[in-house]
Amino acid sequence: MKKLEQYIHPYWGYIFLTVAIKLIAAMAELTIPYLMEIMLDDKVPAGDLRGIYIVGGMMLLCAAFAFGCNVLANRMSAISSGKITRTIRHDLFEKLQSLSSRQVDELTVASAQSRLTSDTYNVNQLLARTQRLGVRAPSLMIGGIAMTLSMDRTLALVLLGMLPIIAAVVFMVTKASMPLYTKQQTILDRVVRTVQENITGIRVIKALSKTEYEKQRFHAVNGEYTAVDQKAGVITAITNPSTSLTLNLGLTLVVLIGAFRVNSGAIENGVIVAFLQYFTMILNSTLAITRMFVMWFKGAASARRISEVMDLPEDLVIRPAEEAEANAPHIEFRNVSFSYTGIGRNIDDLSFRLEHGQTLGILGPTGSGKSTILNLLLRLYDPDSGTVLIDGQDIRTIPYDTFRKKFGVVFQNDFVTEGTIAGNIRFFRELTDEDLARAAEDAQAEFIAEKEGGMDAEVVIRGNNLSGGQKQRLLIARALAANPEILILDDASSALDYQTDSRLRQALRKNYRDTTTVVVAQRISSLRHADLILVISDSQVIGAGNHDELMRSCEEYRIIAETQMGEGKEAV
Ligand code: ATP
Ligand code: MG
Repeated sequence: MKKLEQYIHPYWGYIFLTVAIKLIAAMAELTIPYLMEIMLDDKVPAGDLRGIYIVGGMMLLCAAFAFGCNVLANRMSAISSGKITRTIRHDLFEKLQSLSSRQVDELTVASAQSRLTSDTYNVNQLLARTQRLGVRAPSLMIGGIAMTLSMDRTLALVLLGMLPIIAAVVFMVTKASMPLYTKQQTILDRVVRTVQENITGIRVIKALSKTEYEKQRFHAVNGEYTAVDQKAGVITAITNPSTSLTLNLGLTLVVLIGAFRVNSGAIENGVIVAFLQYFTMILNSTLAITRMFVMWFKGAASARRISEVMDLPEDLVIRPAEEAEANAPHIEFRNVSFSYTGIGRNIDDLSFRLEHGQTLGILGPTGSGKSTILNLLLRLYDPDSGTVLIDGQDIRTIPYDTFRKKFGVVFQNDFVTEGTIAGNIRFFRELTDEDLARAAEDAQAEFIAEKEGGMDAEVVIRGNNLSGGQKQRLLIARALAANPEILILDDASSALDYQTDSRLRQALRKNYRDTTTVVVAQRISSLRHADLILVISDSQVIGAGNHDELMRSCEEYRIIAETQMGEGKEAV
């Protein structure tokens, strides 16, 4: 990954200017107590009215100048850090898009989200605050010490004696709280994930009256987050009171010792007043530096989490092309084995061939590996061993843009997006209105014509204003619209009634003769006309052939078929 420094690089000049303005402002601020001392000790006792006006005017000028500079510099810091974080967020988003499904599985979507949002925010704060305080706070501190030393050494030593105590507190607190911040961010991932799962599944949760269970689950992770947050809070909270205590002790000492020194004639009254001001300045900057430390730890932890993603190696690389095999079928799986996690197998030694225009049906109980076969065909994952070929070419050698264009896909639990019906079918591709109309007709989506606005009818987020069957037909229309070479339907007609389902199959057979189709379904009726049907159980093929062959050779298939035919014979 480009390191943070490389992102900052183009803005160095700008940042330098910001910091320089901050430094000038700090110098103006440091002058004010000094001027006050002159006013109180020289001008006022002498009754020098003109002098009082001049010095007073200079003080005002310094204050106004510092104010102007600070506002300007703060704005500049917001601009540069905003731009830098925008680039980081952009690159991170792009990287997330390029991750393979396996990498996303490992990272989790929730973690990706919080890295993109709260972690980039922390980096932004790190950049902005460092510009605002990184130079200002130390220069007020050092400047303040220098000014006090030049005014009265004894009093300045009192003040200096306090600083190691504060520094020790700050050091210990940061050391203890730093690991907690990293932990906090990890738990935040889980909070987000829980909420996300809950919102996505809210209907199912309600339907199964899992609300109580979900509440408890959220309660648990929320509690964990709060515990770490509180612990970090309690530790860091020690800092402010202890610095205030040190400050007050210091102030008391300054006044006490100062009073003795005024009495003995070593210093004048005004020095004490100026000292009190410098003391406050020094202490505020010490506190600011403390806060900056916390910010740095948070920001560094977040930057690390961002670069973890940016540094992920490129998965699913395109291999050098090889000569395509002659007389190859359209799709071929050759001894393909695959596991998501490396433990056990989700597909075990699968081989099959499918000619152009043929239909493959996949049947099997839930979790048997049906969608996994499609994931491998779509190269969302690479097999652990074996080869997937299209037209005799290993799909790992086909460039993505050519490869992806071959497919029209309806995933299981696929989603429609917010917008219009036409927008959902078109899905950012260059398709004509005729394409859309044809696809809608073939997908049996006559409901579109009945909707107010037709193709331009509004679809709300997640398609919640459509029925399950309407959504499925919209998704099928999307898959058909670009006339794909390979059509993949994963449980895509489960919400359709038998008659619509059958009309859909007829339309596919009639109008998509050249399209090779892969259908995953639970209903025998959706599959029985397929040229090849694979019966999958527990990652293995337990039956392969067409309907008639399977009725003879595969007992599991025959049992399923007989049960279903009993129910829906008239529609088959
Ligand atoms: P269904 O009919 O319910 O859709 P399926 O046959 O499509 O089931 P698959 O989605 O292929 O089942 O899953 C096969 C197995 O792989 C299951 O045991 C599932 O838990 C596991 N699995 C699926 N996706 C992942 C993943 N991303 N990471 C780890 N395991 C996974
Ligand atoms: Mg599935």
